[in-house]
Amino acid sequence: MRHIAIIGSGPAGYYTAEAAQKLWGDGVRVDIFDMLPVPYGLIRTGVAPDHQSIKGVSKRYEGTALTDNVRFVGNVTIGRDISVDELQGCYDAVVLATGAPNDRLAGISGEALGNVFGSAAFVGWYNGHPQFAKLDPDLSGRSAVVIGNGNVALDVARILAKTNDEFSGSDIVCHALDALQRSRIEQVTILGRRGPHQIAMTPKELGELAHLTKACPRVEPDDLPSEGEDAFLEPGQRKSVAHLRGFAAIPEAFRADKPIEITFDFYASPKAILGSDKVEGIEVERTVLDADGRARGTGETYIIPCSLVVTAIGYKSSPIPGVPFEDGEGRFANVDGRILPGLYCVGWARRGPSGTIGTNRPDGFAVVERIAEDIESAALTTGNKRGRAAFDDLALQRGIDVVTFRDWQKIDAAEVGRARDGSPREKFVDVDQMIAARDQ
Ligand code: NAP
Repeated sequence: MRHIAIIGSGPAGYYTAEAAQKLWGDGVRVDIFDMLPVPYGLIRTGVAPDHQSIKGVSKRYEGTALTDNVRFVGNVTIGRDISVDELQGCYDAVVLATGAPNDRLAGISGEALGNVFGSAAFVGWYNGHPQFAKLDPDLSGRSAVVIGNGNVALDVARILAKTNDEFSGSDIVCHALDALQRSRIEQVTILGRRGPHQIAMTPKELGELAHLTKACPRVEPDDLPSEGEDAFLEPGQRKSVAHLRGFAAIPEAFRADKPIEITFDFYASPKAILGSDKVEGIEVERTVLDADGRARGTGETYIIPCSLVVTAIGYKSSPIPGVPFEDGEGRFANVDGRILPGLYCVGWARRGPSGTIGTNRPDGFAVVERIAEDIESAALTTGNKRGRAAFDDLALQRGIDVVTFRDWQKIDAAEVGRARDGSPREKFVDVDQMIAARDQ
């Protein structure tokens, strides 16, 4: 029997469990740990609440979770309740699938001012992550700035611009829906330090901006490279740029009944966030691209007045004491997923925060292949660890209140049961509430 512990129950964690099951069938026992009492990580608290079709992938993970050889072990924090060393004492292999939950900093002054948030916090707020549920952003000003030209920046801009009706069918949590209903934001500026050809936004997500009830995107036609240059882009990027060209061509008359504007400000690098206590504006420097395609400041600066800033410039993994970490890359130091003997990483914890949810599937299968190779070459010995029985003994000794997948199903049913009309669920945004729902 092979005993595997996976830390993190998001896509990378469940795809790894699926791969282990495919390879070893009944010859493996997999425990998937999560610090929250609820599974699915980024699917629950990262994917935008109005992108329910993407969240549907959790049904596949449920299929894996409900098999006899895979177990969900929720409400257990590695590093607090149990250390990685101790887990390695219980399981043959430990796989870190902890994602990249921390915001990268832009490294400019003013990032600590009030109403300046990283996207992990802001997205966590509208998605009901217990860590960020109390963020309480002030949406009473007119102007918001979102820094970054990736899909997360798009998510944040779109959420800020949607009407209540447009959230129908979503699982946005009620504290965020209430706050957004009262929001007075009319101007959302998306800052990109490079140009339209360098965006990291995908066509489907970008195209959604053209179909908002009260909001309309704006692109300055002069920012667009000549159309002929689009031919050098890869097809997906060409489609994204085609959307930007479409936004640049939107007639002014069409904007008349769209009180919210989402402006793409390209070649615009944030220099400083301004304000004395809360953010009041952002100083931006115009850029040009150098020969290597990097943004170079021109020295020309300007100020965008705003009362909310969200930085959406990428994420970092959380280091774990004793586990080698690459600070610059914000991920665990690894070679093809191998960190130390018996310790592996997968998904964003391995490669950094890039790719789609589906990218984690081959990643999960690859790390299981590495484990199999290590068993084959005797770099990893199996047969003398007790796996889940050893963890259960420790959990009992320490009084760890483990939440099982059956428990999650109770919490899930309670969330579905208290959903407002048209919504799939009303999430509990507090760990105690989740545990109380389990105990009912
Ligand atoms: P991302 O795709 O890496 O984009 C980060 C953006 O931030 C880039 O435009 C980058 O510009 C910019 N940036 C970085 N440092 C900056 C700085 N100091 N100042 C100004 N701009 C800076 O990251 P993300 O948007 O967080 O997305 C993470 C991953 O999740 C991506 O793979 C994304 O596609 C995926 N995702 C997918 C969906 C979806 O499919 N619906 C939704 C959300 C997220 P440069 O290019 O100049 O570095």
